[in-house]
Amino acid sequence: MIRVENLTKVFRTKEVETTALNEVSLEIKKGEFVSIMGPSGCGKSTLLNLLGMLDKPESGSYTFQETEISSMNEKERAGIRKKNIGFIFQNFNLIDELTVFENIELPMVYNNISSSERKKRVNEIAERIGISHRMKHYPQQLSGGQQQRVAVARALVNKPSIILADEPTGNLDSSHGNEVMELLCELNEEGTTIVNVTHSAHDASYSSRIINLLDGQIVSERRQESGTLNKTTSL
Ligand code: ATP
Ligand code: MG
Repeated sequence: MIRVENLTKVFRTKEVETTALNEVSLEIKKGEFVSIMGPSGCGKSTLLNLLGMLDKPESGSYTFQETEISSMNEKERAGIRKKNIGFIFQNFNLIDELTVFENIELPMVYNNISSSERKKRVNEIAERIGISHRMKHYPQQLSGGQQQRVAVARALVNKPSIILADEPTGNLDSSHGNEVMELLCELNEEGTTIVNVTHSAHDASYSSRIINLLDGQIVSERRQESGTLNKTTSL
């Protein structure tokens, strides 16, 4: 599904040059649940942003579902992104001025989906994640866990083939964090590919493969039985 080769990203400011990713090569197969781990500043978010086509590499190649992305312009990349990728940000990134309903609906507005279909899908997803009773609320009126669930709903409303999540439980207490991880697990069982950046060994235990980054490079990788420890309840 995803293949990157020798991906390098350099950030330049007036004073310093930071090589955030250094020749990273990686393959992610359809249906995998991958965790990306490593210390603060090692390049996890940078890698996720490149995989999500939110940013461009300095060099290297990126193939997404057999399509070479590296040579595309921003408009072409955005087209592939909005059809295929759901992104969950660490700080939720909900829009304060929009209601829960409007936040979840937003990616479908960008994809020109009809308003009746939008309503149907938002309601289905809201039901599923248990937020139906808060549709007219604004993000500030929700708990952290509820906000993150809205962010998850927004990421999956377009039925993406892959979800990229950047520390989706980072701002949550453990019970709300587990809700989000179990939701990701369910989606994975239904066939959605998941790439999850995390600092938490507990969250990583839900995945079938753990990739460790250090100083912009992959230093180790291991596979494991996926999430058997934690799949005791489901949403
Ligand atoms: P954390 O766990 O703290 O979120 P991370 O592994 O996600 O860390 P990145 O955000 O990918 O780390 O950053 C990798 C390196 O690139 C860091 O040294 C960071 O300072 C640098 N960096 C990231 N974004 C920029 C930017 N926009 N401009 C300059 N440097 C940047
Ligand atoms: Mg980060």
